[in-house]
Amino acid sequence: MKIGVIGCGLVGSACANACVLRGVGTEIIFIDKKPDLALAQAEDILHATPFAFPISCRAGNYDDLENAGIVIIAAGVSQKPGETRLDLLKRNANVFADIIPKILKHSSDAILLIATNPVDVMTHLAAKISANHSDHNPRRIIGSGTILDTARFRSLLGQYLGVSSHSVHGHVLGEHGDSEVLNWSGTTVSSMPLMRFATQAGAPITKKIQMQIDDNVRRAAYRIIQGKGATWYGIAAGVTRIAQAIVNDEHTVLTCSALTPKIENVSEVSLSIPRIISAQGIKRTIYPALNKEESKALRASAEILKEAIEQLE
Ligand code: NAD
Repeated sequence: MKIGVIGCGLVGSACANACVLRGVGTEIIFIDKKPDLALAQAEDILHATPFAFPISCRAGNYDDLENAGIVIIAAGVSQKPGETRLDLLKRNANVFADIIPKILKHSSDAILLIATNPVDVMTHLAAKISANHSDHNPRRIIGSGTILDTARFRSLLGQYLGVSSHSVHGHVLGEHGDSEVLNWSGTTVSSMPLMRFATQAGAPITKKIQMQIDDNVRRAAYRIIQGKGATWYGIAAGVTRIAQAIVNDEHTVLTCSALTPKIENVSEVSLSIPRIISAQGIKRTIYPALNKEESKALRASAEILKEAIEQLE
């Protein structure tokens, strides 16, 4: 499958590299408003293929996206000193108003995987822009959403419990950001309720531990950005995981962002809940069981996103 990457900075290039290392797709087209950057990233990543998977890598233009199955969007502008969040949002909205119609003109059936932040609002915008420009199906617009936060939750819990994160099944829901909701009540380890497993593993989940893990998940990006200026490996692994589920028609359940008709009494909002991902994009959305507190927090998260979307509109 041909995969396009729009925006070949830290996140876009790390996604392409992860595709090559994991053997996702057969051809990657690199597109950036800085053509020299796209050329350099394509060349550099091509040189990894003898040690990984023989995937073709080249820089290109939008017409090279003909018949692409997936287009990863990691194009974005970063916040200028003194700029408000809304101003940044507006500038990234302009970037999307420019690139989404160009993508759809050449690959109207592609599934768009959005990583650009604020990812839930950008996913919403991509769905709205694509609806205006073609009969593009909203199931084919997927934001990385909380796939990264869910991975952070699983890895931190696994580390605390002394088990592989692969044995930890829990989700982070809602906004990819400060208002996200850790679904503690639905988390299991090796099919056992979390609390029961934790007691047997000699690593009980006290209120203090719960608060520490919550904070480490919720504030991970702030800490990483403080240490190295940006985050890219985790998100690239997550975006590539979604791409892999599409390429292999896996019907895997992942927490991704998408336009959601109604959640917790908030209508038409893009946020993350578990979605079955197949070759068609989002095959089905699953509404997890939440306790009262989580349900209230998810509603608050949906309302925050709804307000951001309305401000932009
Ligand atoms: P970056 O500055 O390294 O790369 C962005 C690239 O986009 C640049 O190369 C730039 O030239 C390109 N670009 C800008 N406008 C363009 C346009 N109109 N057409 C084509 N290319 C264009 O930034 P980055 O660190 O790679 O981050 C990219 C985006 O991903 C940001 O919005 C960032 O906040 C987001 N991000 C999301 C997550 C997540 O979990 N969803 C995690 C990390 C970063």
